[in-house]
Amino acid sequence: MSRERSSRDELEYFRDLGIRDLYVDAVRSDSAALTPGSSPDLPALQKFLEGCPRCKLSRSRTQIVFGQGNPKADLMFVGEAPGHDEDVQGLAFVGRAGQLLTKIIEAMGSRRGDVFICNVLKCRPPNNRNPEPDEVASCMPFLEEQIRLISPRVIVTLGTFAAQAVLGTDEPIGRMRGRWRSARGVRVMPTFHPAFLLRSPERKKDVWEDMKLVRDFLASGRE
Ligand code: URA
Repeated sequence: MSRERSSRDELEYFRDLGIRDLYVDAVRSDSAALTPGSSPDLPALQKFLEGCPRCKLSRSRTQIVFGQGNPKADLMFVGEAPGHDEDVQGLAFVGRAGQLLTKIIEAMGSRRGDVFICNVLKCRPPNNRNPEPDEVASCMPFLEEQIRLISPRVIVTLGTFAAQAVLGTDEPIGRMRGRWRSARGVRVMPTFHPAFLLRSPERKKDVWEDMKLVRDFLASGRE
């Protein structure tokens, strides 16, 4: 058995004894922070993320929700974090908010399989609480790598949290939505989160205005 393998076994032994922080700290340094540009494709990135221990959400999640869809999509949707249904199924936006997102995508003349759907955080925060700064810091490099690999023409951020994380701002969503921004060389359209629309259906028309801008830009063939 190689030296590296036996030290990993030892760490897993401590983890199984419940001495988890030692395991998390060691794996964090030994699996190395993701170096930008180091993943050849999405499956390799997903594999790299497997069993991720980088933040405390690893203790409560059922599984990692990497995101799914067309790996070469022109359009990428980024939400906040998996909820209960997503945590159980391992897929992004499959609960009630996800069903509404499907309707939005179809109203734009696309199908879910045409676009890529993911979240800022890949693991569910307990009781759907807001993501915490250390969790975002651990997970953001993975979203950045997804954006680099997919290289979409447009990113639609869903809700306050995703817009603020992707754009690196603390502006309120009410001021950002419906206006083109840019991040990492990609056009970004912030809009309301579908879960918010379930509570406030009167705001659906705002989202539809935002999605028409996105649809028309994509149809124009402009870069
Ligand atoms: N809300 C999100 O932000 N993401 C999901 O995947 C589901 C609900």
